[in-house]
Amino acid sequence: MRCVRCQSCGASKPGASGCKWTHDFTMCQRCGDLYEKGNFCPICQRCYSDEDYECRMIQCAGCKRWVHSKCESLSVEMYTLLAHMPNSVTYKCPDCDSRGSQLKQILTERADAVETLDESIKPEPEEVRKILSSLPPPTWKSLMEKEVQTGLEAVTMGLFHNRATCCILKNPGVVKSEPSDGKPMKPDDSARPHDLFAVRFAV
Ligand SMILES: [Zn+2]
Ligand SMILES: [Zn+2]
Ligand SMILES: [Zn+2]
Repeated sequence: MRCVRCQSCGASKPGASGCKWTHDFTMCQRCGDLYEKGNFCPICQRCYSDEDYECRMIQCAGCKRWVHSKCESLSVEMYTLLAHMPNSVTYKCPDCDSRGSQLKQILTERADAVETLDESIKPEPEEVRKILSSLPPPTWKSLMEKEVQTGLEAVTMGLFHNRATCCILKNPGVVKSEPSDGKPMKPDDSARPHDLFAVRFAV
């Protein structure tokens, strides 16, 4: 007898008494209902409830489904940034951009290689995530990275063109000549200007 576990939440029981396993004994009743509603991440296939605010999720502009930011290997910073991107940068899940077909092709090739064409064998979420991150970045991701790059450049240029920061950059105290005995010089922190408040109020 095999041990039944919900593939979505890991529960070993289908739910409270009276609840039944769903989807060929792969999901508990609650997850099965959520799955039917379409409340599952298209990458890891795990279900989420509408009240689930705990994990970071991003909505696909194409199919309107929600995807775990972890499943897209997005860092917390990138996740936060995505929310502040201009309207031209919209997130799309693998099914809605070109990655979906590439992913399917890779998975089918692998299945062929091990000759397990069993439809019921689903790839591990971890494996799907690994394949996805090895694919060329989707448009939304490259656009986002470009946006970050442009932002960084703007900040750097702003600092270079700012009078207060220029003074700091040109401060001769930072550069010291080598001591005459030829010993390598230790970095001297006291010689570096670090009055960043001046920068903050001047920008
Ligand atoms: Zn479950
Ligand atoms: Zn997921
Ligand atoms: Zn989508």
